[in-house]
Amino acid sequence: MPFFICPNCKERSLDHDGRQGLLDQAVSCQRCGFGFLFELLDDYYPSPNTGLVACDRDGRILASGRGVFELTGFNEADLMGKNVVEVFGLAGFEPDRNPIGLALEWGVRRLGEQIELRSRAGNVKRVTADVFPAYDDDGGLLVALSPRRAS
Ligand SMILES: [Zn+2]
Repeated sequence: MPFFICPNCKERSLDHDGRQGLLDQAVSCQRCGFGFLFELLDDYYPSPNTGLVACDRDGRILASGRGVFELTGFNEADLMGKNVVEVFGLAGFEPDRNPIGLALEWGVRRLGEQIELRSRAGNVKRVTADVFPAYDDDGGLLVALSPRRAS
């Protein structure tokens, strides 16, 4: 059974009554009213300071959640339509091992990727990225970015 997660408030829900109308009717968040839920194959529990970003099949940002601004300094208007790897300056992965690209190309989850992002102010932050390919045929990705404590 698929699970849904709200990219904005991270509320999780099951697909119980979300699709009772038209087959492709958008499901909106029952908690915050956000008009888009991301469908996951497996349940996922983001941490309280995780920021979620939903992307299309080309890695362009469709929605960014509340935690993203705190983590990156970018607000949603800064991010819409931008490539998620470029706008966040994602780095720290091995060449050709970009977890976003791998998830898009192969449709596989990438969990616990230890990477770096560049905040709007230009600071490099160490983050853990969990990347989920979309469950449906539209493609796309959900990218969960969580701050890592300096070690
Ligand atoms: Zn919500």
